[in-house]
Amino acid sequence: MSMHRSRTSAGARQDVPVKRASPVKAKAGLYSVVQRQFGRAANYLEMDPGIRAILGSTMNEIGVHFPVKMDDGRVEIFTGYRVQHNNALGPFKGGVRFHPSVDIDEVRALASWMTWKTSLVGVPFGGAKGGIKIDPAKYSENELERITRRFTFALGSNIGPEYDIPAPDVNTNARIMAWILDTYLSLMPSPERQASTHVVTGKPVETGGSLGRESATGRGVVFTIEEWALNNGLPLEDATCFIQGFGNVGSWAARLMKKRGARLLAVEDMFGAIRSSHGIDPDDLHEHVSRKGSILGFPGAEEIGHESFLRTKADIFIPAAMESQITAETAPLLQVKLVAEGANGPTDPDGDAVLQRRGIHLIPDILCNSGGVIVSYFEWLQNKRGEYWEEDEVNEKLQKRIVAAYRRVAHRASRRPWEPGGEARLDWRMAAYAVALSRLGTAYKERGIFP
Ligand code: NAD
Repeated sequence: MSMHRSRTSAGARQDVPVKRASPVKAKAGLYSVVQRQFGRAANYLEMDPGIRAILGSTMNEIGVHFPVKMDDGRVEIFTGYRVQHNNALGPFKGGVRFHPSVDIDEVRALASWMTWKTSLVGVPFGGAKGGIKIDPAKYSENELERITRRFTFALGSNIGPEYDIPAPDVNTNARIMAWILDTYLSLMPSPERQASTHVVTGKPVETGGSLGRESATGRGVVFTIEEWALNNGLPLEDATCFIQGFGNVGSWAARLMKKRGARLLAVEDMFGAIRSSHGIDPDDLHEHVSRKGSILGFPGAEEIGHESFLRTKADIFIPAAMESQITAETAPLLQVKLVAEGANGPTDPDGDAVLQRRGIHLIPDILCNSGGVIVSYFEWLQNKRGEYWEEDEVNEKLQKRIVAAYRRVAHRASRRPWEPGGEARLDWRMAAYAVALSRLGTAYKERGIFP
């Protein structure tokens, strides 16, 4: 394995393996995936055409090009986006992603999923998403700080504590949220600064972040898996799983699955995949990744190819990396009972159809990975009220909310509605959409549409 000097998203120089060609196929129009999912759900709900038109489009799309001075004195121009999909239920809310794949289509899709997610889990937010088209591994920490701050400046009053609240996503973390916070506050009149720390969530605890936010998405994934396991008679202490992505969501899910006694058989990150039939210790792997920058080279595990990774025989697969991983081509390879979607949009509609045909259960993304936005809501509330909650309290409240959402979806899925093609059980993605869209539809009916 060849090595080169590179930098992580946090900017620290490390020895990491050379990035291999991504196993992810080029995303053909992620927003069209959202439109297909939404269209199916809207048909099923016989949604009012006016409300359908509103929810089927985004509200605001902000694109910015901004210059940043590099360490060597050069000036580079970056492109960033913030898409505000809908705020019928509360302020726009959604993460900020730093990735070369970021474009307006991807951000529109991710923003729409946020609207469905916040509605499904009943937090008073709308949906938004943002990002910068950038490979953060190519920049120093100082450059990343300047890029983040300049992006925040360019967004200006398009974000705000009661208007649009960013959070971490792929390749962004608490430190980056602290830079957004500091830049935003610096642009405000001094007397208003202290009352505005809830402009961003996922902050470091010392700057007003919530205990439990860092682990929240992975923890939520595991709470939903626990509930599924209970309902399907699978003791988690006997269960096996494998995980794609070992960043925030994947590594927390792995470590918390270990606490429930489950065995981790294989892991994949952007550099490659590893497997061990004896099981991979996620705490040791986490430590390995923090030193090496990748899962590769982990002692006791063999390196395997992408297809072999997908063919891993286990009870549960947790995709926790990027979109469009489970497709018509890859879904037939899976040999699992459950797919728990830690990532946003890891399964496309053709992949969904294969999973259903093969009887593989699914906990859809807008439910499975909602722990992040639930605890972001708790952080926002704590900031507004000037409170600090204990971590146990945060985790308990998270469990209560996500399990309640799980049960709403399970209840909806158990009905036997009419669907084109005959009597069919409502699949879990459509059940989650039905719950989310019904709440949004009711809000629009009650408020009416101006003018
Ligand atoms: P992250 O940057 O912390 O980690 C991403 C991981 O995916 C890394 O291990 C990376 O190596 C791996 N990866 C990237 N490209 C890959 C590829 N082509 N093949 C295999 N692995 C690849 O990101 P994260 O915050 O853990 O987010 C992961 C997913 O979860 C995203 O879909 C994100 O939108 C979603 N999500 C995150 C949060 C959150 O709170 N961070 C909340 C909800 C949903």
